[in-house]
Parts: sequence; C-alpha cells; structure tokens
Amino acid sequence: MLTVNAIAAPSATEPLVRTTIERRDLGPRDVLIEITYAGICHSDIHTVRGEWGKVPYPLTVGHEIVGHVTEVGAEVTRHAVGDRVGVGCMVNSCRECENCKAGMEQYCLDGNTGTYAAVDKDGTVTQGGYSTHIVVVEDFVLRVPESIPHEAAAPLLCAGITTYSPLAHWKAGPGKKVAVVGLGGLGHMGVKIAVAMGAEVTVLSQTLSKKDEGLAFGAQHYHATGDPATFETLKNTFDLIINTVSAPIDMGAYLSLLRLDGTFVSVGAPPEPLPIQVFTLFNNRRSFAGSSIGGIAETQEMLDFCAERGIAPQVEVISADEVNDAYERVLKSDVRYRFVIDIASLR
Ligand SMILES: [Zn+2]
Ligand SMILES: [Zn+2]
Repeated sequence: MLTVNAIAAPSATEPLVRTTIERRDLGPRDVLIEITYAGICHSDIHTVRGEWGKVPYPLTVGHEIVGHVTEVGAEVTRHAVGDRVGVGCMVNSCRECENCKAGMEQYCLDGNTGTYAAVDKDGTVTQGGYSTHIVVVEDFVLRVPESIPHEAAAPLLCAGITTYSPLAHWKAGPGKKVAVVGLGGLGHMGVKIAVAMGAEVTVLSQTLSKKDEGLAFGAQHYHATGDPATFETLKNTFDLIINTVSAPIDMGAYLSLLRLDGTFVSVGAPPEPLPIQVFTLFNNRRSFAGSSIGGIAETQEMLDFCAERGIAPQVEVISADEVNDAYERVLKSDVRYRFVIDIASLR
C-alpha cells in the first residue's frame, strides 16, 4: 500500500480536510500517476454532501485528473514512465457486456466503476483525484497531448467529454444550429467544442451578464431565457440543444425551440422528474435525450480534438486550502469557468 496526501470529506456536513489515503500496490496492468492538477466538478459537491445517495466517509472526490506516470506494472503496454496522462469519471468496467465491447464503458450494463465512492473490482472503495497520487488500470488512463496546458487539461476529463460526446453523436457541424443552455463549467466547453466542430452556436443563459464572454468563446448568438420573448423569437430554430443546467426548466418552452428532427439532450439533471407534454414532441418529430460522459476511446478522441483545435477550458487555479471556499463559489455560480486544484499545494 502507498499512503498519500489527500483532501477528504469526513462526513456529509463537515468541510473537507487534509488527510492521507491509501492507494493499492501496483498490479501488473496498473499505472501509478503523480497528480499535478484536479478539477472541481459540481458532481464532487453533490457526492460529498450525500445529495446523490449514501456514500462512504471519509471520502476523497475529484474526477478531472491530470498528471505524470511515475511507475507501471509489469504487463503495462499503453503508458510509460514520464507520460502525461489523465483520468476521468470512471476507472473500470466489466469489459464484457455489449456496451463495453462497443467501446461505451460509461454505459456498462454492470455499471462502470466511478473514480470515487464506488466499489472497485478488488472490493476497495475508490478515492478520487484531490490527492497526490492515484493507481488506475492502464485501459482507463488517457494520453494528454503536450499542447494542452496541464491545468486546463483537467476539466476536459469530465466537462469536456460530457459535452463533446452528445455534440459528436448528434453530429454538430457545418449547417447545424446548436444551442447550449447554461454558460458554466460544462456550458462554456460545449460552446467552444460546438464552434470548433463548425456549428452555428447560440447560448441560452438566464441573463445577458456573460454575453461578452459567450461571444468570445465563439458563439454567434446569445439570448436570455429570463426574457419570454426569447422563446417566441427562437421557435423551431435548433437542430440540437445541449442542456447543462441541473435546475428544473420548462420543458415545453425549450422543446418548442427545436426544428424538424431536432433533439434536446440533457447532460444536467434536476433531482426531481420533469413533466413533458408529449404533443410537443409530435411537432417537428422532436426527440428528448440524455447523455453521460463518453467511452475511453471517445475521451481520447476528444483530448486529441481539443489539442488539434487549440481548445482549452478557462480555469481558476486554487491551492488545496481553498477548496471549501471554492465549493461555496461553485454553488453560487461564481467561477470563471472551472476551479482546478494545484496538487503541488498538497505535497
Ligand atoms: Zn464531473
Ligand atoms: Zn460492461
């Protein structure tokens, strides 16, 4: 066992504290990663606060992980010591079900193994990236191209792939009109990626307060959803709407913005069910869909795509001691656009 420095939540109600956690001994196909940066995802906060169900404490979260390989198991072939690598939202899956075989481990029928708060194949509880090191089986470790700055690479592993996957699946590209709902950590990546794919992109945000930034990210249009006229003006407009907002929304109003064969995809999820008037789907043969992160191959494709196009998240780098304050700011949407912990501050 390797004992490493980490930040952990002692319970659902206490602040995160500095502590140590254990990492398993390197198996033949495992990779030891010295972490340099870890992003803060809204899911981390929901999870440590027990809002998405019971979790084991103490718990270290973090599933936007970037670092260097410092040791590899005897049978490892995909990564070598010194490689720049990343780990996202999952660290294992069954590898045998039809979804795993299709390269969509995120939809493993047995349930993928989450990077934190999950039971790993060896029976231990997984602990996330707010720590100095992590041990992960090589198949779930991504190559991070050198051209992406380290701190900016971290949020690609969750926010990047979560928006890239539905944009790629529903073929955002030239001639397609795409709307991104919400301009936060996920939304700003959705805009940058959809623009890079060649789509005509509209931001739908509650107010116009971030309009200049949204346009700077490459969006052609920006509308306030707080203004009812927006829904009149944009009726029957979009081929694809990516919803990154987790608060309940008026589904009828948003679905009415889809043109023929348009799809509304939610990557944000309110905890309570959303009522949908099915007749709204009949018009324009509309679809309502969901999407969850991406498979390992697709995550690699996204990293390579972002490197080639020079796309990176906008981040605020913080030290380990600022994480509790950062959580409060995330909850107030007071972050431009993703917090990333400098793990050097944990050593
Ligand atoms: Zn996440
Ligand atoms: Zn599977």
